[in-house]
Amino acid sequence: MQIPLRYFDDPILRKKGAPITKITPEIIQLTQDMIDTMHAKNGMGLAAPQVNQSLALFVTQVPIKVSEDPEDHEWEAGEIRIYINPKILAYTEEKWVREEGCLSIPGVYGDVERPVGIKIRATDIRGNTFEEDLMWLHARVFMHENDHINGILYIDRIRGQERRRLDKALENFKKKQK
Ligand SMILES: [Zn+2]
Repeated sequence: MQIPLRYFDDPILRKKGAPITKITPEIIQLTQDMIDTMHAKNGMGLAAPQVNQSLALFVTQVPIKVSEDPEDHEWEAGEIRIYINPKILAYTEEKWVREEGCLSIPGVYGDVERPVGIKIRATDIRGNTFEEDLMWLHARVFMHENDHINGILYIDRIRGQERRRLDKALENFKKKQK
């Protein structure tokens, strides 16, 4: 079942998500609904605060194939992953810039610099803790969603001229919301 999304300017998007201490049937249902919503909205990831739940939980479906053309927003979804109480343990020094968008700010895109790779720890839906090394787009989507559960939006990571361009787009977005 799809859940309505929360959009830019909603205070829930600025709150830190609480850790999940027990994987209850409600959490399992929420996770399934988040996956349904991510599919329906064609997002690479979705974090609990975006569906009005202030919890440390997100889901991803990182593409297996991505177009080289930055104007082309078409992509094919890969494997679905669930991350509960995620932590980033280490970052590579090397960084890269890529355009990001967000289901909570539809139609707006901006270039974000992030580390190429990360080492993470999280809990899966069965309550098992796991660690993995993520690279490139998978690492980027993880970091974008991990920011969400810490009350951070990708636009916060953009400065200078790109930020000024984005601020105009955000103003237009806010006007359309009203
Ligand atoms: Zn987002």
